[in-house]
Amino acid sequence: MIDLRSDTVTKPSPAMRQAMAVADVGDDVFGEDPMVNKLQEQIAALFGKESALFVPSGTMGNEICINCHTRPGDEVICETGCHIFNYESGAAPFLSGVQMRPVVGERGVMTAEQVEQVISPPQDHFPQSALITVENTHNGAGGTIFPLDELKRLFELAQNRRLKLHLDGARIWNASVATDTPLKDYGHHCDSISVCFSKGLGAPVGSVIAGSRQLIAEAHRLRKIYGGGMRQVGILAAGALHALEHNLNRLKDDHNHARILAQALSNMPGIEIDLDTVQTNIVIFDIAKTGLNVLQFLEQLKERGVLVVPFGGTRIRAVTHLDVTKDDVETAVEIFKDVFD
Ligand SMILES: *Cc1c(COP(=O)(O)O)cnc(C)c1O
Repeated sequence: MIDLRSDTVTKPSPAMRQAMAVADVGDDVFGEDPMVNKLQEQIAALFGKESALFVPSGTMGNEICINCHTRPGDEVICETGCHIFNYESGAAPFLSGVQMRPVVGERGVMTAEQVEQVISPPQDHFPQSALITVENTHNGAGGTIFPLDELKRLFELAQNRRLKLHLDGARIWNASVATDTPLKDYGHHCDSISVCFSKGLGAPVGSVIAGSRQLIAEAHRLRKIYGGGMRQVGILAAGALHALEHNLNRLKDDHNHARILAQALSNMPGIEIDLDTVQTNIVIFDIAKTGLNVLQFLEQLKERGVLVVPFGGTRIRAVTHLDVTKDDVETAVEIFKDVFD
């Protein structure tokens, strides 16, 4: 099966499993797991932050940061298609008592001007704008890159208006590799960042959040409250460390593979695809004009050995990752052609 549903479907390689098997461990709630400590130190250093914290999922990482930056009744300004607003089961209002204020960006990118327009004046009528969230790369928009210049402008705005900025960097690795941007440049233009090891980097589990020492101290308490305090979790941190060392630069391959797939799809009759959104490892396309029904289409692909996911209406998402080779992509292209014929 060529599984293009998500970059979360990757399985740990034998070498990664070996690194995990021999990992030195300790009780991480006591701060005594050497692999977790090493991973946290490495991520803090990579992003130029004072401190970092291992958490079980990207969602928990985002939600802990939101809670740290806000008080109940505050408003969080985000892009309308973002993960925090759409794919975290309503966690921000549920866990932090905040209201989300979505702004419609272009290909996932909202500008500082747009955000400035919705920051509320300091009057008792209005929810107080406390936090801006940015997603890079932007999953819903097709793995699009949030330009560093716009992030800088947003962070400047946040600082001038006394808001915080959280960067949902589940796929920041893809953005960094695609644009040759050092990870520190992202870290320097946000108050907190969350990153995932279980997407393109190919580890089975784990995320890390990074920020100031004070923020991470508060996050440590919240991680316990949210049920995310884990014990000999160095086994997982070792997988993440292995992923960082071996699977970061190869993301370029995934980006090339996505490009090959997208280009081929754009030449198939009836397929609508905005090639400008194919900037990293995600390909979103629309099959409305093929006349095929989405569920039937998914079934026909599956029968021939390709898995993708529906992505709203007649849209489909395909994601390349380290368990998909160039040959797999070429085979998938032939299968798509076959189904559309
Ligand atoms: C995957 C993802 C997350 C975190 O998801 P989990 O499944 O909770 O790890 C957060 N933000 C974005 C943009 C993502 O793609």
